[in-house]
Amino acid sequence: MIAEVIVDVSTFSVDRPFDYIVPEQFVSIVERGSRVHVPFGNRKVQGFITNVKEQSDFDESKLKEIHSIIDVEPVITEELLQLSKWLTNKTLCFEIDALQVMLPAALRASYKKNIKLIEYQAVDDQFLSLFGKKESVPYDVVEKAGLLKLMKKYLTNGSVELETIIKQQARAKTIVKYKVSPDQDYIQTQLAGLKKQAVKQKELIEWLLVQEQTSYTLQELSALAGATSSTVKALIEKNILEKEKKEVYREINSLEHNEIDHRFQLTKEQEFALSKVNSAQDNAEHTTFLLHGITGSGKTEIYLNTIEKAISKGKQAIMLVPEISLTPQMTRRFKLRFGEEVAVMHSGLSIGEKYDEWRKIWRGEVKVVVGARSAIFAPFRDLGVIILDEEHESTYKQEDNPRYHARDVAIWRSEFHNCPVILGSATPSLESYARSSKGVYTLLTLRMRAKEQPLPTVNVIDMRVELKNGNRSMFSVDLADALREKLEKKEQIVLFLNKRGFSSFVLCRDCGTVVECDQCDISLTYHRFNEQLKCHYCGHEEPVPTICPECSSEHIRFFGTGTQKVEEEITKLFPYARVIRMDVDTTRTKGSHERILKQFGDGEADILLGTQMIAKGLDFPNITLVGVLNADTTLHLADFRASEKTFQLMTQVSGRAGRHDKEGEVYIQTYTPEHYAIELSKSQMYEPFYHKEMQVRKQYEYPPFYYLTLVQVTHENVMIASEYAKLATDWLRGNLSSTTMVVGPTACAISKIQNRYRYQCLIKYKKEPILIEKLQQLIKIYRSDWMKKGIILSIDLDPSAIL
Ligand code: ADP
Ligand code: ZN
Ligand code: ZN
Repeated sequence: MIAEVIVDVSTFSVDRPFDYIVPEQFVSIVERGSRVHVPFGNRKVQGFITNVKEQSDFDESKLKEIHSIIDVEPVITEELLQLSKWLTNKTLCFEIDALQVMLPAALRASYKKNIKLIEYQAVDDQFLSLFGKKESVPYDVVEKAGLLKLMKKYLTNGSVELETIIKQQARAKTIVKYKVSPDQDYIQTQLAGLKKQAVKQKELIEWLLVQEQTSYTLQELSALAGATSSTVKALIEKNILEKEKKEVYREINSLEHNEIDHRFQLTKEQEFALSKVNSAQDNAEHTTFLLHGITGSGKTEIYLNTIEKAISKGKQAIMLVPEISLTPQMTRRFKLRFGEEVAVMHSGLSIGEKYDEWRKIWRGEVKVVVGARSAIFAPFRDLGVIILDEEHESTYKQEDNPRYHARDVAIWRSEFHNCPVILGSATPSLESYARSSKGVYTLLTLRMRAKEQPLPTVNVIDMRVELKNGNRSMFSVDLADALREKLEKKEQIVLFLNKRGFSSFVLCRDCGTVVECDQCDISLTYHRFNEQLKCHYCGHEEPVPTICPECSSEHIRFFGTGTQKVEEEITKLFPYARVIRMDVDTTRTKGSHERILKQFGDGEADILLGTQMIAKGLDFPNITLVGVLNADTTLHLADFRASEKTFQLMTQVSGRAGRHDKEGEVYIQTYTPEHYAIELSKSQMYEPFYHKEMQVRKQYEYPPFYYLTLVQVTHENVMIASEYAKLATDWLRGNLSSTTMVVGPTACAISKIQNRYRYQCLIKYKKEPILIEKLQQLIKIYRSDWMKKGIILSIDLDPSAIL
């Protein structure tokens, strides 16, 4: 028997499966989708079996043998194997990367596998003898005994089970427990032999003897039996209690007892949208729905209902949410509705916890996964619906190999399973909305908030006027007044500081001008070291102006501020206000995100001050005021999606106010109130924004009118990086169709990361049938030659940001 194996060697220029001979002892357990160790060169490497066959086209006497089996049961389903092929081609990655990305991190780390006996009557004597008195034995023992074939049979019929023990339990919690000796007679003798003075020991032993529980924490012993640690210690010395360390899994988002699942009479709009998705489920149609509903319109309620429908048909569902909106509030709604049938996957879980959730899916113990991007690879076998909430979010795009977009994977899987996809958003991406207007996606619209609350009133504040009136603080007079009023009324406030890791544009505080590139409609980026402004799309460069080119003011400078500074200023203005800050600094430790939100939800603070993290998913009844301190930051990102991102963000943030009974108010501070992205976020009307932005995209030839591919070249040496970027650009220009534009090469917006200089070129095209083929050729040149020189070439078809 021959196995085709994709090996884990991504420095190799050839990306194809290699044939290996399957040794006789493994024949019974080798399967597609299992991992193995194989010899490669003079190393031993990991690989995935992607096919099994009787004969090789190569000279079999030259083939090597599989060294050992990593997975006794395959870890990649047949469907995911096919998906990996598609992903490899679609994102131009190594096939091994496409396979690895589908597995939980735990399976990439080292772990041990045990075979556990479930029904010993069903197992033959030779097999049984391996276990002795134990419940489980290491897999190696079974392999050495040559009983793999039997093992496979027992695994299939359930007589034995596979247990996986993750070694790297970095964050697993252990607790110490005290186990009571099972030997009652022994305890009785000890009790009888106690010294008279040992009153406390006597009390504890007598108490233990009448309990059913056999293992306690120290806290329990102290609370329930009044025991002290010295008494417990004495009983340990007498072998009545035995100390044991137990690994406990953190209960993920455990529910509080008083919580109940609200079910609503759906609104007409919700009813209609739901009926469309349901009929696609009933007819097994792989329709992609774009659910465009304003904030608070009850999209989540629709998700819950369609998932319920899928489950009732015996199917499963994937619910994706952006990492930052994977709040306890959100997951709780799913846990309340579906209870134990939900697996939750997010980056806050330890490797072991994630693996546990994955395994529940693999074994079919859960029906729903709620998770961030990578949950799109959940190994469900019969999907009924796939949902992406906040579909416009850029976190759905992976910025590393494989550079996939969860939306594309969702649609691929929906075609495989013949089930609908729902893309939900209050502010859909332009691409998706354009597709829905062409009928590629089916548009479903929710125009009303579910409880018919009005949208909050949005006030746009011109910070140029504030400066003219002598107000140099970061709070406008109106926002400061509103803050004072809400603080007095004891209502809650969300203050949003628009901050992206990278935002270094130069802004005139008098007229709001930001210097842009004439060719590209992109803000020029400030480079401190040579005091230059630079366009990162086309390479245009100019000196930083000392006076504003529009109004000649001298108040033109680099722009940016931090949450800490804002907090200081709030404390100065409102010393009595209780502020909670939520940003990268305060959310570093595990669980801090939840804790902060809980504190705020419990009313322990008046103001929640934060960055992008607080823009989404918060649903607190007492929030009546939202303040955006600086709307401009995203507006001037060196990114053609800057306006779109600003509009989305303003709409999302505003949506936090007045979601329940109390009406909400929003203040947006900006230096460019006349910009359409700001102007239109006042009314929160998506369609006018969409039409305006589409005009701009058309004029400057950006998506969705043109497709973009980003090619980046990095090297430690600036000369080499720029030289090879030029080589790549010229090669592409010479090999692609004449209608395709190749723009660049130029330094990237972030010109250096981790000591590597970064250059790029952009490919713009409407139709380029030979694109993939040519890019593959370029990759071949790179892998066979440039790679040795320390170059890293990366290609992103459909980049979500160009930095
Ligand atoms: P979205 O996801 O569109 O922002 P949600 O699903 O979170 O909106 O709904 C907003 C609020 O309205 C939530 O508090 C939710 O419980 C409530 N809600 C949803 N549907 C209904 C309904 N049909 N009737 C009453 N309240 C509803
Ligand atoms: Zn100016
Ligand atoms: Zn330019």
